[in-house]
Amino acid sequence: MQEIAKLLEKVRWVEFQFVDVAGYLRSVSVPAKEVDEKAFQQGLSLLDGSSVEGFASIHESDYRLRPDPNTFAILPWRKDTARMIADVLSVGGRFPKDPRYIADRAIEYLDSQGLVAYFGPEVEFMLVDELFLDVETPTKGLGYRVSSREYLDFEEDMGFQRIKKAYHTPTPIDKVAEIRYEIATVLEDYFGFQVEAHHHEVAALGQVEIDFRFGDLKTTADRVITLKYVARNIAAKYGLAATFMPKLVAGDNGNGMHIHVSLWDKNSNRNLFYDPNDEYAELSQTARYFIGGLIEHGRALAALVAPTVNSYKRLVPGYEAPVYMVWAKANRSAAIRIPFYEKGVEKAKRIEFRSPDPSANPYLAFAAILAAGLDGIKKKIDPGDPIDRNVYEMSEAERKRLGIKELPRSLDEALDELESDNEFLKPIFTKEIIEAYIEVKRAEAGELRQYPNPMEVYMYFNL
Ligand code: GLN
Ligand code: MG
Ligand code: MG
Ligand code: MG
Repeated sequence: MQEIAKLLEKVRWVEFQFVDVAGYLRSVSVPAKEVDEKAFQQGLSLLDGSSVEGFASIHESDYRLRPDPNTFAILPWRKDTARMIADVLSVGGRFPKDPRYIADRAIEYLDSQGLVAYFGPEVEFMLVDELFLDVETPTKGLGYRVSSREYLDFEEDMGFQRIKKAYHTPTPIDKVAEIRYEIATVLEDYFGFQVEAHHHEVAALGQVEIDFRFGDLKTTADRVITLKYVARNIAAKYGLAATFMPKLVAGDNGNGMHIHVSLWDKNSNRNLFYDPNDEYAELSQTARYFIGGLIEHGRALAALVAPTVNSYKRLVPGYEAPVYMVWAKANRSAAIRIPFYEKGVEKAKRIEFRSPDPSANPYLAFAAILAAGLDGIKKKIDPGDPIDRNVYEMSEAERKRLGIKELPRSLDEALDELESDNEFLKPIFTKEIIEAYIEVKRAEAGELRQYPNPMEVYMYFNL
């Protein structure tokens, strides 16, 4: 407490931040001098829940925000202000629809079984012109493309030039590198991140990726929302917008958020996914069951890890995003991959789950991945054999023969799955958040169903 009191003396304002059910960040600013010891215990009454989508419930409206001192960070773009991520409290204690509460429940559940899990996301996003938001003239907002002859590829039948192979493009061809460096630096210097790599991604349209060191479920989910918040603020300084929507433009890669997971025994401090005697990938039977759970529940899980209407425009063949629920070593068409590993290195053994994208609410997505994997372990679910071939190129008959499941093709389809397959979430999720989540997401899908998109006009105008 003394420590945090000292930190608070350095600033005039504090932003209390939390995410709603869908994962939108919300922030309220209070004078630093109001943030006393009591605030850290009981929270401050700063929140009218009825104005937050998914939170409202008729019998309750007294919500409080309790800041987490571990998330204290001074804002580099406003040095008299700090932010803290807050828990949402309601009358009886933790609010059952606060996504961060689900993260705490996930960690408690792990702990009760003597387990620890680590999560490491690869966050992809695009730095573009805000004019993209202008739906009337979207072409005005093309943003900052990698511009070099080498990256051009004329798509004749689509009638436009697309630029590809922008992966690891160096400066000065990479027009957004400056912003990426600044985001990565701020994350390290102000927000306590340990950045592991950052680079231009495959999509030519200012696509970047920032990877940071793995951590526990809640810390890592906090970091995902922090990264998005920081990226947006830094981009805005340059007159650009950072967007994490899964598929911004057709014809080029979308924004994914691959998630690396490993599971450890708390007492022995051993990696439960590692088995040096396994010839295929030094992968344990426990890891195989975990993968079995991800595949078994993969279609329902999609509603939480690829949770927007737009997510399903990313999950199509040809753009390094998965379509089929299979696992393999090197195969990038697989939903679950065992990343390259150095033989005999226990601590690096992990799986990479590739369906998720950065539009996911990270607290709920990570908790759901964990719940599915642990269910696989509990029920000893066999994930089938790894498939080290390009699944896109198999015939449908062959996929059928191998029992390969496809990811849902739309948010509504994913929600149908989640409605009929959510028992596996219940050791971790509250029933209130499952219900609120489905309601919010159904409304979102229903809203967008009413809008014809420009390509539909092109296809059907003359029919
Ligand atoms: N952008 C791809 C996706 O949507 C991933 C590309 C990559 O990291 N190799 O998942
Ligand atoms: Mg990567
Ligand atoms: Mg990537
Ligand atoms: Mg990856």
